[in-house]
Amino acid sequence: MRLTKKKIEEIMLSILGEEGLPLVKELTDKENVSEFELADKIKKDIKVVRRMLYLLYNHNLICFTRKKDKQKGWYIYYWTLIPESIRFNYFKRKKELLERLKESLNEENKELFFVCPNNCVRLNFDQSMDFEFHCPECGELISQDNSKERIKMLQKDIKDIEKELEAMKIRRNVRRKKVKERKKEVKTKKKIVKKTITKKSVKKKAPATKKSVKSIKKIKPKKTTKIVAKKKEVVKKKKKTIKEKK
Ligand SMILES: [Zn+2]
Repeated sequence: MRLTKKKIEEIMLSILGEEGLPLVKELTDKENVSEFELADKIKKDIKVVRRMLYLLYNHNLICFTRKKDKQKGWYIYYWTLIPESIRFNYFKRKKELLERLKESLNEENKELFFVCPNNCVRLNFDQSMDFEFHCPECGELISQDNSKERIKMLQKDIKDIEKELEAMKIRRNVRRKKVKERKKEVKTKKKIVKKTITKKSVKKKAPATKKSVKSIKKIKPKKTTKIVAKKKEVVKKKKKTIKEKK
């Protein structure tokens, strides 16, 4: 799904209400917008702006970075929309709407409905029975509603949403594939870098290790013989002292 401004607004306004429209417009297509700049641009109190921002933040639709104002000593928050999260929210809402529409269609097909000639109410059969087929608002006799138009509208809405959701899924899969391919590319690049590094290190280090091995071989036996000799001396001394004691 392409995240059009309309879709962004639809999601954000479902949380903020119409009052939030100017704020959403200021955030769209921008990054790290200071909360004070937002308040200034939409001409609202900083407290009101913060309340709206936290609402969006609680729905995981925006994120922030903060910087300390060295002169004033407090933090200033900078806000950015999270497109992936908005997209997910939009998808979820459409799915829920689709379920509701399907339920209504099912009801329209199954049940009889009655309407008031003054358009006060529309009742199902059981409800109409309860009111003895009179409008509970104005008292007029109610008559059976022709559900055909309503069914047609519902069917069209359902089809439209299903199409949109399908298109969204296809785009999402394309996006996921791209992400996977990018990850693979990064991995193979890392592997290549590793290989070249190890090759270089082997070539450079190899002669040094051979030398060091030789030098260790030369030194080691001397050291060990010295230690052994010393140990022998100690043993001899001990034996001597034991003999002297005896
Ligand atoms: Zn009525």
